[in-house]
Amino acid sequence: MRPAILDKLFAPVTALPGIGSQAAKLFERLAGPLVLDLVWHLPGGIIDRRAAPPIRALEPDRIATITVRVEAHQPGFGRRPYRVLCTDSTGTLTLVYFNVKGDQLARLFPVGAERVVSGRVEFYGGMPQMAHPDLVLRPDELDRLRPIEPIYPLTAGLSPRIVQKAVGAALDRLPALPEWIDPALREKRGWPGWREAVRHAHAPETEADLLPTTPVRERLAYDEIFASQLAVALVRARRHRQKGRTIVGTGALTRPVEAALGFSLTGAQRLAVAEIAAEMAQPRRMVRLLQGDVGSGKTVVALIAMLTAIEGGGQAALMAPTEILARQHHATLQRHAAAARVEIGFLTGREKGRARASMLASLASGLTPAVVGTHALLQPDVEFRDLALVVIDEQHRFGVEQRLGLYAKGRDADTLLMSATPIPRTLMMTAYGDLDVSRLTEKPPGRHPVDTRTVALERIEDIVAAVGRALARKAKVYWICPMVEESETADIAAVEERHKALAPIFPGRVGLVHGRMKPADKDRAMAGFAGGELDLLVATTVIEVGVDVPDATVMVIEHAERFGLAQLHQLRGRIGRGDKPSTCLLLYQSPLGDVAKRRLSILRETEDGFRIAEEDLRLRGAGEVLGTRQSGLPTLRLADLAVHEELVAIAHDDARLVLERDPHLDSERGQALRALLYLFRRDEAVQYLRAG
Ligand code: ADP
Ligand code: MG
Repeated sequence: MRPAILDKLFAPVTALPGIGSQAAKLFERLAGPLVLDLVWHLPGGIIDRRAAPPIRALEPDRIATITVRVEAHQPGFGRRPYRVLCTDSTGTLTLVYFNVKGDQLARLFPVGAERVVSGRVEFYGGMPQMAHPDLVLRPDELDRLRPIEPIYPLTAGLSPRIVQKAVGAALDRLPALPEWIDPALREKRGWPGWREAVRHAHAPETEADLLPTTPVRERLAYDEIFASQLAVALVRARRHRQKGRTIVGTGALTRPVEAALGFSLTGAQRLAVAEIAAEMAQPRRMVRLLQGDVGSGKTVVALIAMLTAIEGGGQAALMAPTEILARQHHATLQRHAAAARVEIGFLTGREKGRARASMLASLASGLTPAVVGTHALLQPDVEFRDLALVVIDEQHRFGVEQRLGLYAKGRDADTLLMSATPIPRTLMMTAYGDLDVSRLTEKPPGRHPVDTRTVALERIEDIVAAVGRALARKAKVYWICPMVEESETADIAAVEERHKALAPIFPGRVGLVHGRMKPADKDRAMAGFAGGELDLLVATTVIEVGVDVPDATVMVIEHAERFGLAQLHQLRGRIGRGDKPSTCLLLYQSPLGDVAKRRLSILRETEDGFRIAEEDLRLRGAGEVLGTRQSGLPTLRLADLAVHEELVAIAHDDARLVLERDPHLDSERGQALRALLYLFRRDEAVQYLRAG
């Protein structure tokens, strides 16, 4: 139950004076339907009305508040505006109004009366004037003048004045809430209490007060981040209480397979394997994210986990987002697993008829202990005898229902999610804070750094010549064309055109792969490139994930400026996998803006995916980095992850600490924290408290 102390904030905006159902719709569009939404609707600027010079001292394009005497009216006609002439002892100021109806101005400005007007001053023919003053007050109304006004973001149909009034009314209803922030932290950072912070955030006095780094704004950002960290920590804690199964390996399969790998595991792989095995052995449910850059060796880690599940008497399934990837994983796993005589099944949408039926039968009977496949694994007639481990590759390409769909085919199965998208720690904690994470931060030895260069698109002929020289040296070359989701058709046309242009230059050696091709044609082109009949592959980002042709050494990326950094990084990860030096050419459309330039140069500087992701977060913001599809990320209204990075780590630790001490939020601070969760609409998390 929501604490009653919050009721006033959770009332609809119509509860505020002067807001009817029509205005409520506009407010809903602007900020949200509740009084609380107005509380979070922070100003983005200020208007300083404190300058009150005599008329003679007025300066153009400044806001001024002037006390004047009304002298005369010059009603407008035709296109001439209505003018009200005013004076003080130093000069004349003309007030200008367009489209005046009726006698409203006569009533507002009786001749001979004194008025205070405030607005922007302009000069016309050397004379100061003010068009449509923001404020006109009688001398006895001066208390209505706010010397410094906040400027709120607006929406069509709502005037600044109406929004200001509504926010003001919302702020009048702020309850005094018990403090949820650790007092020591509050003191250390110099943060005000919640109500004071909200009020100050709405009453900036200088431009500097609007910065996200003031103690006031920082406190509010922390509240929001803390609420989200607490929510994910609750989800995580609940899952840890959920029943899972205990899977303990014997080493009977993993030992021979590891021995036959032909390489030894990196330290990072070894650690990940140990973390996964330890968690599988726990009686609770595992949901662990295995994160590692392209080429960091996730597949082997997944294989060992799968073999462990089989050793424990269960089955394992690996689901990949595309057929190409599934096929490749299958080939790799099959090759390695042969050392333990483990057979690995395969199932995609293309397996039909007898082959499919026999695959299904053998999974259902348990004869096949492990399977690799695509979404086809989710079909209702796919059944397992005892699915104990679910592995999801490129997890962000699947929806939650799909991931859970496969999980549901098992019996308290453990889940291993894999992702090659390096996500900055900050984002990780926010978007996936409920998961346990293993990271492969170290690459297998023997990789050459990729020589990365940026080249203007105008120099494409030089690039083609360079590709020709590379082909003459027997290099394999990827040529990537951008894929922008708004117009797949246009993108496909661009790839096909590039293919058409390159094919006659290098006859018989150029292949084409894009997302609209039939899977069989796609596979044929890929296989041709991997096998060596083709050595220039023109492709869209379908080759982005996972595809493995270790002897490819050159990659050309057209319109690199249109790609996300993480995506470019992943694409580039397709080369530099073997023992020969590799080159990546990023072709850009000039002129490049500053941010674009900076972004591309980061790729030249480093191959560390995590660093690239951090930089991308700084340059582009969180939404862009994760993309809309990976929208596990709750939207933040007050916090900006690129700015408040440091707060995330603090909130993360504090949330876990709080739950360790007070898992049901029963203490006094716990009660305050419940209110916090509601304030930021993380109340689903509160249900997890009740569910025990
Ligand atoms: P990821 O899936 O993380 O992109 P892969 O699992 O496909 O990476 O591994 C990339 C390549 O590195 C594969 O060819 C794999 O056999 C190889 N590899 C994996 N681990 C090691 C290791 N410890 N030492 C040497 N090579 C490795
Ligand atoms: Mg992989």
